[in-house]
Amino acid sequence: MRSFSYVSAPDVESALTAIASEGAKFLGGGTNLVDLMRERIEQPETIVDISRLPLTEIEELPDGGVRIGALVRNSHLAAHRVIRVRYPVLAQAILHGASAQLRNMATVGGNLLQRTRCLYFYDEAAPCNKRVPGSGCGALGGFARNTAILGTSEHCVATHPSDMAVALTLLDATIEVESSRGTRRIPIADFHCLPGETPDVETVLAADELITAVELPPVPVARNSRYRKVRDRASYAFALVSVAAALEVEDGVVRTVRLALGGVGTKPWRAREAERVLTGTPATADSFRQAADAELAAAVTLPDNAFKTGLAQRTIVATLRQLTEGSPA
Ligand SMILES: Cc1cc2nc3c(=O)[nH]c(=O)nc-3n(C[C@H](O)[C@H](O)[C@H](O)COP(=O)(O)OP(=O)(O)OC[C@H]3O[C@@H](n4cnc5c(N)ncnc54)[C@H](O)[C@@H]3O)c2cc1C
Repeated sequence: MRSFSYVSAPDVESALTAIASEGAKFLGGGTNLVDLMRERIEQPETIVDISRLPLTEIEELPDGGVRIGALVRNSHLAAHRVIRVRYPVLAQAILHGASAQLRNMATVGGNLLQRTRCLYFYDEAAPCNKRVPGSGCGALGGFARNTAILGTSEHCVATHPSDMAVALTLLDATIEVESSRGTRRIPIADFHCLPGETPDVETVLAADELITAVELPPVPVARNSRYRKVRDRASYAFALVSVAAALEVEDGVVRTVRLALGGVGTKPWRAREAERVLTGTPATADSFRQAADAELAAAVTLPDNAFKTGLAQRTIVATLRQLTEGSPA
């Protein structure tokens, strides 16, 4: 690991001052950044430790939404009563990620910004346009079982790894960020970027911007929501496919539905086409299958990851059936 300076920021103002120095990076729980520093993928000059900032509250908002401080630990958020009752999909998504020890350290801000687990991103000897822009993509023509089928480009097929971000995408969360230029609020749908020609640009966040909070709007349908994750091991593994879903059925007809996917997209994937197809149709397995197929029609597969199309379809159907029938998770 390359040597670096360490600054512990006591308040937001000093964090913003410290991050202005060339090559500085924030440190939340450190569970991703420190690994990347060990692998020499990230080589910051200065680490600005923000773990002491007073951004650790979960507050109910007057409109029925919830404001979550950026330094709330993942385990705390998943255990919070209001989250478990009003947004069960979020609590479940977090609990499907990493391990209890990691969730105790990981923060909301850091989770949103965790970097891909693509094998070629981690392999210094391999080309990777995300790690070294212009070097090529080792996954194309390489071992690509864990790569994306939605939102890919000829320059990158890496998936976004976060489970939490998939649930936040379903919930239309807003991300609040602060810098010396002031505060801005970014809808999560606009926060993560598609790889296009610049896979190294992963979010719209500037290097000197601090995530201060995530806000959830009131989402009544989310009371009936679920997160289902398919992976190679039952725990401590990233998603091959995951589905976040919220559903309201009235007289056998789908009144409201929200769907988001993980493990298949280059960013947390809101399945808007599936939502459009499903709304107003009978809540049956056939309709669920048709909606899934409509979304997955845009999939671009490689020989190694082609299985994800069928797996995603079946996982969407199974999750919606669970929500319709009220069977246990
Ligand atoms: C073995 C292992 C298994 C895992 N399995 C899963 C899994 O199954 N599912 C899953 O979703 N995740 C998984 N994770 C990833 C884990 O969820 C992330 O490492 C964690 O959420 C990152 O949060 P952090 O606070 O530790 O981030 P850090 O490592 O501190 O930071 C990550 C990035 O965010 C930046 N940052 C942090 N906070 C802020 C802020 N407030 N404002 C601006 N920038 C900020 C940092 O500069 C850095 O670039 C796994 C991790 C490990 C090590």
